[in-house]
Amino acid sequence: MDNKSIIIAIDGFSSCGKSTMAKDLARRIGYIYVDSGAMYRAVTLYCLDNRLINDGVVDTQRLASAMGEIVISFANNPTSGKQETYLNGVCVEQEIRNMRVSNSVSLVSQIDFVREALVAQQRRLGEAKGIVMDGRDIGTAVFPDAELKIFVTASARTRAERRAAEMQAAGENADIDAIERNIAMRDEMDMTRKISPLRKAHDAIELDNSRMTIDEQNAWLLARYEETIARL
Ligand code: C5P
Repeated sequence: MDNKSIIIAIDGFSSCGKSTMAKDLARRIGYIYVDSGAMYRAVTLYCLDNRLINDGVVDTQRLASAMGEIVISFANNPTSGKQETYLNGVCVEQEIRNMRVSNSVSLVSQIDFVREALVAQQRRLGEAKGIVMDGRDIGTAVFPDAELKIFVTASARTRAERRAAEMQAAGENADIDAIERNIAMRDEMDMTRKISPLRKAHDAIELDNSRMTIDEQNAWLLARYEETIARL
């Protein structure tokens, strides 16, 4: 990797196409792509499967002692060529995207020791640079010195429609109104939590992609990357 390898932080609201553009850019420029939301989702799945969430309350004591047993990794699926998330060696890519996990993930992502553990892992993944990472706090907390920071927004309805289309494509039922309610709830919890709330870094470039096609947003991001590299 040449000495112009950089860190690209893409933050923004739920389901606004961050990962689509982040993955596309990483593939084009040969960078690693890391979906930090998948890591919070995997911890949430672990909690649900081990009954650590009861009536909307996380048993933080038991989760704290279980954290050492939660190993999250990523691997490429050789057939689809897509990156998949693994929890303790088991592929959980589909399970972590369902509503059961979506409804509880913002509870788990508020917990200080969960964030500390995942942020430490995210920083290790970015040590050698050459990485595109998307999430909520990548440009503010994980990599405050990232050379390129993007903050993505889109209306809640647009985001719900995109998420529903994704779920339908994966053969799942999708109730758009329920998805929109979930998105609005997560936005609110992510913006108002005490630790690393979702907010635009002062030096991030804002993108509202409500009216953009996927190709347009991919081209927009590639142009921002090229500008950044040209400035270094
Ligand atoms: O990006 P995605 O919607 O999959 O993220 C799921 C949830 O994980 C978010 O709603 C948020 O609560 C949490 N998250 C976070 N910090 C990140 C990425 C995701 O708190 N860097």
